[in-house]
Formats: sequence, C-alpha cells, structure tokens
Amino acid sequence: MPRESDFSPAQSPSLEAPTGPATWRADTLLVRGGLARTGLNETSEALFLNSGYVYPNAEEAEAAFDGTLERYVYSRFRNPTISVFEERLAALEGAPVCKATASGMAAVTSALLCQVRAGDRVVAARDLFGSCSWVIGDLLAQYGVSAEFVDTENLDAWAQALAKPTRAVFLETPSNPTLRIVDLKGVCDLAHAAGATVVVDNAFATPLLQRPRDFGADVVVHSATKWIDGQGRCLGGAVLCDEAFNETYLGPFLRHTGPCLAPFNAWVMLKGLETLSLRINRHSATALTLAGLIEGHPAVARALYPGLASHPRHALAQSQMKAGGGVIALSLKGGRASAYRFLNALSIVDISNNLGDAKSLACHPWTTTHQRLSPEEKLIQGIDEGLIRFSVGLEDPEDLAADIGAALDAAGG
Ligand SMILES: *Cc1c(COP(=O)(O)O)cnc(C)c1O
Repeated sequence: MPRESDFSPAQSPSLEAPTGPATWRADTLLVRGGLARTGLNETSEALFLNSGYVYPNAEEAEAAFDGTLERYVYSRFRNPTISVFEERLAALEGAPVCKATASGMAAVTSALLCQVRAGDRVVAARDLFGSCSWVIGDLLAQYGVSAEFVDTENLDAWAQALAKPTRAVFLETPSNPTLRIVDLKGVCDLAHAAGATVVVDNAFATPLLQRPRDFGADVVVHSATKWIDGQGRCLGGAVLCDEAFNETYLGPFLRHTGPCLAPFNAWVMLKGLETLSLRINRHSATALTLAGLIEGHPAVARALYPGLASHPRHALAQSQMKAGGGVIALSLKGGRASAYRFLNALSIVDISNNLGDAKSLACHPWTTTHQRLSPEEKLIQGIDEGLIRFSVGLEDPEDLAADIGAALDAAGG
C-alpha cells in the first residue's frame, strides 16, 4: 500500500465490456455520475442558483405538494445542481440515497439527531474530531440521550459497550487527528446484534479509498469540505443511507430543519469530485513517502500513518483502505516547544487548522482543533503536546520533503 493498481487505469481496457452508469467504475462516476443536462445541452453541470420554482397553474402546484407529481418545489428540499452532486456521491459510496448538507458537522448532527429519542443510548469511538465528540457527548445529552465512548481500536471494548441495547454507533476511521483505525466489520457486526444503526464518518478516506457500507455500515457521513472539494473553497457535507432510513428519519429531519447545501457549493463540489481520483492518489503517494522520511528523523518520537508498516493497525488499514490517504500525525520528542519550532520553521507548508487542501497544511491539535478536551482526554486520544497533524498537499514531493526536513531539524533545536 499504496498498490500499483490503485494508481493506474485498468491494464487492458476491453472494447466489449458493457457500458452504462450501473457498470461504470469510480473514475468514470467521478466525472459523469448523476449528470443531468438541461435542454440546452451544456457540457459542464448547470448551476441552478435559485431558491424556488414556479408552476404553470394552481393545479400543478397542488399536485406538487400532495405528492402526486414529483418535481422541484423549493431548494431546501431539492435542487437540480445539488441532486447531481448527491447522485454522484451515492454511486461512489454504493449507497441508495445521498443527502447533501451545508457542512460536515451538519451531516454528523443530522445523521444522529434524526434517529435518536430521549432515553436512547449512543456508543461512539473515543477518538473523534472535536465537534463530533461535542455533538455526541454534550448536545445529545441535552435531549436525554446518553453516550458511552469506547477505546477506538479495541474490539473487546466495543463488545462490552454493545452488550446493552444501543440506538446508534458513531465512529471515524481513520480518526482525526491520530489516524486510529476501527475494525469496521467487527464493530458493525457487534452493533447490529445490539440493534444499533452504525454511522461512519468517512471524511479522511473518501469513497475512493474506503467504502464503509461494504463492511456493514448503515449510514456514511462526509465533510466534503476536506478532500472532496479539496481546494479549500467551500464547506459542504453529505449523509448516505438506504431508502428506509431516509424515509423514516433523515428525509423529514432535513426537509424541516434546513441544514441544506447551497447550490453554488454543490457545483464547486462537483468540480472537486471530477479530480478526486487524481488528487487523492497523489496525496496518498506523497504522504507515504513523507511519512517514511518523518519516521526516521531523530526529532520524531512517532509518526502515525495508516500506510506505514509501523502503524499499529497497518494490516487492518490495508484490508479496509486502498491507500493511506493524505493525513500524517507526528509527535515530536521535545513537546510543545519543539512542535512550535517545527511549525514556525515551515516555509512551504502553511499553519492551518483545516485539512484536505491542495496546499499542505499543518497544525498543533493540542492548542487548536482539540483544545476543548481536558489534558487527560487528549492524552487518552494520543494527542500529546508534541503532536502535529500534517495534511499533505499537491506540491512537488521533493520540495515538501526539503521543507519538512528543515523544520524537523529546527524542531530538534
Ligand atoms: C472536518 C471534519 C468534520 C467537520 O466537517 P465541516 O465540514 O468542517 O463541518 C467532521 N468529521 C471529520 C473527521 C472532520 O475532519
């Protein structure tokens, strides 16, 4: 990993292979999935920058609302540009339904809040993006939903927590920022035995590197802000699920609470998807090379990257993911002072709390993205004061290696 086959087109394309959206491979879906041209036959996806729709007569308006006529009525419910994005992402994730949201956090919150009731119990991985742990631990508690956080990589801990009836399970794999890997099949089997719906945050891997539904996940959520846009332009998110979950829980929740994606942002995300395969493979290949260099530097206590043989769950990552993705976590021996020297010495890589950009970005999770957690909780999650999260961009790998090498030398002091 990364494997050669993931980075090059099929070896010998056949002229006889059947063609059509149902058989298209990921790289074709990225460019053409869901494409629905208007009568004007435009090449690129049309941008429908409109909130409402008009009716030729009062009878049609009535039919649109009583359900006898399916058509666009209001962009909080549906919009043609957003629909193309939803269909494309659904095909990539292998999910019957995709609903786009205004941000990744709108997707996470909607996927959970739509299904829980007071008295329910949620079990979640301990290693989560800061806002995800706030939604599960703090927000759900306001509505009488209890949460139990478990040791992310320990299947026995999951089994213990899921010995009791559970409404929903939530996890990220790889997790933000320490790239812990959850046994998707193992946790999904345990969760289903407990009656739970499994929600997987697939933001770090994208559907090209990992499809959680293939391992039993029920609902997949994305922060499209990260690799799907991939160029630091727009916020966006998505929830993917089956028809029943959408009809019973998600659809009504989104329609009436309105965390919808803006049509313009959906159009930007469509352009992002077109190049996702090229980008994510390059991000992964560069990250693997840099992770190997980082791991060998004397200032580094540990480097965490799913593609490194030294990652504690490397074999599991290989069985679930096609490549390691674009994020590396590294911990510097000299703690916070060393981490700050490292960040301040970077000349190409920017200091930023964002990730999933063409530009390489690095941050200090202890004092930024995960500042809200107590010191004890940070340490349990593997976030020490020397930890750096590094989102690998599309710059020349040798330029990045030189920049990182010089910053590591400075970090060593
Ligand atoms: C960034 C991120 C989110 C939140 O996404 P936004 O688009 O910023 O709301 C959720 N989960 C993970 C794993 C993330 O990295």
